Amino acid sequence: MLTNKDLMKEVTDYAERVSSHEMQVAMKVHTHVRRYLGDFLFREGFIEIPPVILSPITDPLNHPTLDPTFTCYGHNYQLTKSMIFHKQLAVLGYDKIFSFSPNLRFEPLERVKSGRHLFEFTQLDLEVRNASRDDVMALMERMYAGLMAYCVETLKDDLASIGRTLTVPAAPFRRVGFLDAKEQYGESFENDLSRDSTDPLWIVDIPLLDREFYDREDPERPNILLDMDLLYPEGYGEASSGGEREWEYAQIMKRIEKKEQDPLDFCVLVDLAQEGKIVPSAGFGIGIERLVRYICGFDRIEMAALFPKVPGKLCI
Ligand code: AMP
Ligand code: MG
Repeated sequence: MLTNKDLMKEVTDYAERVSSHEMQVAMKVHTHVRRYLGDFLFREGFIEIPPVILSPITDPLNHPTLDPTFTCYGHNYQLTKSMIFHKQLAVLGYDKIFSFSPNLRFEPLERVKSGRHLFEFTQLDLEVRNASRDDVMALMERMYAGLMAYCVETLKDDLASIGRTLTVPAAPFRRVGFLDAKEQYGESFENDLSRDSTDPLWIVDIPLLDREFYDREDPERPNILLDMDLLYPEGYGEASSGGEREWEYAQIMKRIEKKEQDPLDFCVLVDLAQEGKIVPSAGFGIGIERLVRYICGFDRIEMAALFPKVPGKLCI
């Protein structure tokens, strides 16, 4: 045997998983989902940009992860945690862009309990130049409802074979204010709202320090962001995050300072903003494995991925 004991267990699990009926359906759903979303955005006039895996800058995120850096040709590179900054750079050239972007986030171990965290996953990440939060929320509602209608029609028998019945939500989706939700449900408001809902819903108006520095502060309501999360119904939790972006130099610097971060870590964005070259934009990212998990009605996200990267495990 060439493989070690831990890896051998993973290989045995894989051999069972790959031929299971659930995995056959999951990968068929995955294929249809990516194709539907790509075609939808193509029809909406989007340009697809290739994903970035290594870069000197990446998303700081709003929670700690292990951050490996690699030295290549004498320069430091990080693994992409999200393409947020590359999206802001891409809209300097194209009005509407998207990417199926692999993200690497070495999540804290306790996140494995959520059933919706992997340490490698793919986001459909998109950005629209000069768009408002309402514009991209409406785009998401068209895309999401269209995808569900497509799945109900095209994948009905496959989904029935794993005991899943999907419904098609009507737009606009309900909007709930972050602070109102927290007051009503307490700290676990996201899970509670998701569990109690039969349709997807938005969380809006998130307080400044609860999100990253690049989410735009509402000029009319200081300390409140022009961003949003989309929650799946039936307890599947967060589907997507997005919003308008900070693009003015002074505001970007103020926000980085408030997060006690180092502008050097975001040098490309900061330098271009100082030259007045960053433009207003809005966008969102939606995790593909979570989406497949929801459509299939699986208990855990790893059931929706062929080679799932589960925090804490040795995975092939
Ligand atoms: P974020 O901007 O951090 O909210 O990430 C955008 C989207 O990516 C989330 O709404 C999820 O759908 C997905 N996502 C984020 N982190 C993970 C993870 N560790 N595993 C799987 N999907 C994730
Ligand atoms: Mg989020």
